[in-house]
Amino acid sequence: MASAAVLWFGEAMSAVPLRNNKAAASAARSVTVLGATGSIGDSTMDLLRGARDRYRVEALTANSNVEALAKLAREFGARFAAIADPARLGELKDALAGTRTECGAGESAIIEAAARPADWVMAAVSGAAGLKPALAAVDRGAAVALANKECLVCAGDFFMQRAAKAGACILPADSEHNALFQALSSGNREELMRVIITASGGPFRTWAPADIEQATLEQALKHPNWSMGRKITIDSASMMNKGLEVIEASYLFALTPDEIDVLVHPQSIIHGMVEFSDRSVVAQLGTPDMRIPIAHCLGWPDRIVGPSAKLDLAKIGQLTFEAPDFERFPALRLAYEALRTGRGATTVYNAANEIAVSAFVAGQIRFGGIARLVEATLNDWIRGGNRSPLTSADDAISVDHVARNKAASLLPQIALKAS
Ligand code: NDP
Repeated sequence: MASAAVLWFGEAMSAVPLRNNKAAASAARSVTVLGATGSIGDSTMDLLRGARDRYRVEALTANSNVEALAKLAREFGARFAAIADPARLGELKDALAGTRTECGAGESAIIEAAARPADWVMAAVSGAAGLKPALAAVDRGAAVALANKECLVCAGDFFMQRAAKAGACILPADSEHNALFQALSSGNREELMRVIITASGGPFRTWAPADIEQATLEQALKHPNWSMGRKITIDSASMMNKGLEVIEASYLFALTPDEIDVLVHPQSIIHGMVEFSDRSVVAQLGTPDMRIPIAHCLGWPDRIVGPSAKLDLAKIGQLTFEAPDFERFPALRLAYEALRTGRGATTVYNAANEIAVSAFVAGQIRFGGIARLVEATLNDWIRGGNRSPLTSADDAISVDHVARNKAASLLPQIALKAS
């Protein structure tokens, strides 16, 4: 695998690889997909299906969906299949009886899957549970396509430092960051003015605050453009996802909060832009299909043939833009606050949001309560004062646990309080 490929932005901070570092791709033959049964996993497996001669599947993982995991493991002849739920090991073994696939269960098996010698790893577990497995891939210097943004939000500095130290290549799989990754190669750090992350605005883009407050789960799950997993779809409706992405961009490319702008672009055709000192703005465009950024990561630094639809701008006709509304979508404001606060605040932002989304799904709080719970948890953390920077995965996980407990304890008062 290639040695540490450190891009011009952020010196040792950033392990995002140089465009001309060919070694990573030429070695990228065996692949592991963490979170293979999810939405990103599905898109990744679809791309692998179309290029069977170029890739061999080392390991696949899931949380509890034994049936889908076993089906994929059989189809791709995976060497190892891991299920996070330890109670499902027997079922998994039964489902893979007669194959050569080894089976494992529990968190340690997911980490083992990541640690096995695959050249390219898709990190697509949802939530903070993906941190330790992603680090296991990073530590052995793999090329890691990072969809699991929570890794960076929870432990960004530390994660990127570990990647640089191990010589791992972090390939941004999130569409906006992949767009920035592609656009950033047009200039250097001194020439960079800002990056612009686009946002569809989600299903409530034009809604009045009172309606957003009362939005139902069904309404929150109706994303106008993207087909994604449940949690990220709800995060898109609250714009918490865009907040997570601002934080992700900051750590991934070593950017200050002031160098990251968000622009609402309802058609989701432009995914990210970079403005340089001569006021040139370089953008990446494509249909809203996650297979495009994943294909870029899979083929990097070359390009593979992708199955996605051709972009037909004449048919689309109009691309429109709006400034984000920080009042109606406080989640975005809170992300910038957490980023400026640092020292674990972004970990708290993410943890509180995970509790809030589960509570909303369970009918315990209103949609508007999601941002209120995150704000209350964050304020409590900030009031605690003088926190130290996170220097290990255990630090991040411990802050994550503290924040989850705090958020859970604040739930009853959020449930009672309407905006
Ligand atoms: P999904 O919920 O669709 O899939 C999550 C995957 O992770 C599933 O394979 C699931 O297994 C597995 N999983 C869940 N919890 C655990 C756990 N505790 N331990 C081990 N495995 C677990 O999520 P998405 O694919 O939508 O998103 C994955 C990540 O990618 C998230 O971080 C998201 O923010 C990010 N992302 C997603 C995008 C999208 O378009 N979907 C776009 C950009 C980023 P099981 O099926 O058994 O539950």
